[in-house]
Amino acid sequence: MRPGVSAGLILSLSKDEAACRRPSFWKTGPDLLYVRLDPEEPDTPLSATLDLSRVSTETTPAAPVAKPLVNLSGLTRPQLVAALVESGVVEHGKAKMRATQIFRWMHHRGVTDFAQMSDVAKETRARLAETFTIARPEIVERQVSKDGTRKWLIRMAPGIEVESVYIPGVGRAGALCVSSQVGCTLNCSFCHTGTQPLVRNLTTAEIVAQVQVAKDDLAEWPSDKEDRVLSNIVFMGMGEPLYNLGQVADAIEIISDNEGVGISRRRITVSTSGVVPMLEKLGDTTQAMLAISLHATNDALRDVLVPLNKKYPLDTLMAGVRAYPGLSNARRVTFEYVMLKGVNDSPEEARALVKLIKGIPAKINLIPFNPWPGSDYQCSDWSTIEAFAAILNKAGYSSPIRTPRGRDILAACGQLKSESEKVRASALRKLSLAAMAGVLSDDDEDEAA
Ligand code: SAH
Ligand code: SF4
Repeated sequence: MRPGVSAGLILSLSKDEAACRRPSFWKTGPDLLYVRLDPEEPDTPLSATLDLSRVSTETTPAAPVAKPLVNLSGLTRPQLVAALVESGVVEHGKAKMRATQIFRWMHHRGVTDFAQMSDVAKETRARLAETFTIARPEIVERQVSKDGTRKWLIRMAPGIEVESVYIPGVGRAGALCVSSQVGCTLNCSFCHTGTQPLVRNLTTAEIVAQVQVAKDDLAEWPSDKEDRVLSNIVFMGMGEPLYNLGQVADAIEIISDNEGVGISRRRITVSTSGVVPMLEKLGDTTQAMLAISLHATNDALRDVLVPLNKKYPLDTLMAGVRAYPGLSNARRVTFEYVMLKGVNDSPEEARALVKLIKGIPAKINLIPFNPWPGSDYQCSDWSTIEAFAAILNKAGYSSPIRTPRGRDILAACGQLKSESEKVRASALRKLSLAAMAGVLSDDDEDEAA
């Protein structure tokens, strides 16, 4: 063992993923930890293994750390029943009824303190508070655009910051764009999140917390309030949701539960860069709407834009999409297509796109590219985007061009460019998220309206 090394961090990625990763993100240093990412089980939560055999004998044993309390907001109703029984706080016979009561307080009323659960016995409330938590994470920053778009930078834990964006007027009333991971392993060449190494998967509670934070700020409690402004959820924030499917699926179960937030699964969209082996499981377990980040119509170009394509090329991807459970004219897949000047925006490519998706109940979201510090691409000219859209429309596909939202916030972020080397990682993530906030068009999920 090297002197001073107490453990080492090795990111075990598949060959393709490793090839996509930029060398500058391979970190070496004295205080590293082994982290294993199993490419065969991509939805397995990131696991960290501390190899104690390598710990230096000079290391002083750490003082015992108090186990963090389980946040009940991250449990589905059946999981909540089990947790209440296991903890001994609620007896078996009453657990189901008690769990529904507590679930309603958390997700229908939005309370953050067990003391507010007025129909639960005082003694039980006190025991719940000793054993569990229902606290919200810390909001580090909140921004509101002139057009009503809202962004929250949320600190889930030390060093674990994510941003969520609420975009009014998208979907039936307004959509919340949530993150599933901190960073991403996939390095799509036009995406800013892809330049950030994966820090970790978000837990179910952390995904649900993004919805709760938005609802707090939008004054959306109780959840059955009339004229709700948060009607849709899109997993289009940071990270690849299908590499964290277990937590994402549980979060969808919680968010769609009618005893709580009650957002219909038809109004929840999961966007993926194309993790084909997980598509069937996504459809079967969540019944969520599917969005595919396509961006190219041939493998040579898609290999560059979305390097995961080397693992799951277009023919495999399209077969997976065609087999997506529940796909129909009423439940169409959305293909996302970022418009990159001189790269993928020719009329020939629009025609190739029509050919590629032939027979699939689909719509296409054309996303003007949002530049970020250090990006190599430019956004296509507006007339080019319109010409591209016209070809798709003529072939019978709805192909809305995403109207830029939250421009004033974006503009402010854009000004960071010259200072980008100095700004905090969270500020850069914010810029990336703001860029992604634009992937939704005003008439998105029209079938879900
Ligand atoms: N990882 C998932 C979901 C998050 S990305 C996925 O790739 O689908 C959400 C969407 O934002 C994707 O369609 C992605 O391709 C798009 N996107 C990323 N960077 C962008 C940029 N700079 N400009 C426009 N769209 C971008
Ligand atoms: Fe990851 Fe999606 Fe960005 Fe690709 S586009 S790097 S998959 S977040």
